[in-house]
Amino acid sequence: MGNSVSSGEFENAGLLAAVRALGGDHVRCGVDASTLTTFAIGGPLQFVVTVESLWELQAVQKLLATEKQQTRVLGFGSNVLVADQGIRGWVVRLGQSFRSVERLEGDRFIIGGGASLMSVARKISGDGFSGLEFAAGIPASLGGAVFMNAGAHGAEIAERLERVSVVMSDGSFRVFERDELPWKYRHSGLPREATVISAELTLPSGDKERIARACSDNLAHRKNTQPLSLPSAGSVFKNPSPELSAGKLLEDAGLKGVSVGGAMISSLHANWIVNPDRRASASDVLALISLCQERVSERSGIDLEPEVRLW
Ligand SMILES: Cc1cc2nc3c(=O)[nH]c(=O)nc-3n(C[C@H](O)[C@H](O)[C@H](O)COP(=O)(O)OP(=O)(O)OC[C@H]3O[C@@H](n4cnc5c(N)ncnc54)[C@H](O)[C@@H]3O)c2cc1C
Repeated sequence: MGNSVSSGEFENAGLLAAVRALGGDHVRCGVDASTLTTFAIGGPLQFVVTVESLWELQAVQKLLATEKQQTRVLGFGSNVLVADQGIRGWVVRLGQSFRSVERLEGDRFIIGGGASLMSVARKISGDGFSGLEFAAGIPASLGGAVFMNAGAHGAEIAERLERVSVVMSDGSFRVFERDELPWKYRHSGLPREATVISAELTLPSGDKERIARACSDNLAHRKNTQPLSLPSAGSVFKNPSPELSAGKLLEDAGLKGVSVGGAMISSLHANWIVNPDRRASASDVLALISLCQERVSERSGIDLEPEVRLW
């Protein structure tokens, strides 16, 4: 996680002005990470730049790479824990113009990297196209979902992808065919510095009623088993295997309801850490993560790997 950040101390005012010139007024300094993450936790992000076109993204990435600046991409912040002291460098976000959804011929769609997975899934499923029923209730951007290979209910986004368009950190544009990437559970294999700007998916048309029922069943299951009304980042740990859930291991280790500072292991779902009063620090969450790993390792000899990205 990052070093201490003060938004004021930036030695290269010329660079800041140059990025501003490329991106209009879309650069903000010292942005509180708690406002950009579903955990509602984290210190200041030194610079946040929201790009509104492919050209702007490429130009900003190229300039920052030339200046050897550290950059990260942030989607909807639903799987990120930012350090209390914040992080140095540049956080790039995709603006409104990356939210488009276009239907190609037949059952193929191109979806922008900044689109809301949940809204797209609702719309496309409502129109009778199948394949995104699993996504009901996942508060991700399409780009974040592709990068993380988001999934639920036995399905994952990789199964629906044809190709992914990205901008690399040097500003170059690249297309990855699905089979070029080593997809795994919650892992795309995309280079860390790649920004997903859009993805092409095949979503076959099907029976509207069946699709709608699958979406509402999935959502109902979530509401019954997950603390959706509280700030969190969803599941904290990856499941060790399809047959062995992290939630079960944590529950068996007696961790439900355990808290450190303002962070608590949900009493509804042991693989969720929640921030019920919005006063948890990243250190509280990290302490709980370590406690979970220790207890499960002692009890069952299994090392839990965080799914949440630690910044
Ligand atoms: C209530 C809740 C329920 C959830 N349920 C599920 C679930 O069922 N299944 C599941 O898999 N996850 C779930 N999650 C976790 C999370 O929604 C997913 O991991 C999601 O894919 C993250 O998308 P994001 O846009 O929020 O990415 P962020 O959290 O912003 O970023 C996550 C990672 O993706 C990278 N990234 C983001 N956008 C891009 C981009 N455009 N290009 C390249 N890299 C990018 C970031 O750099 C970071 O490394 C849940 C989270 C919450 C809060």
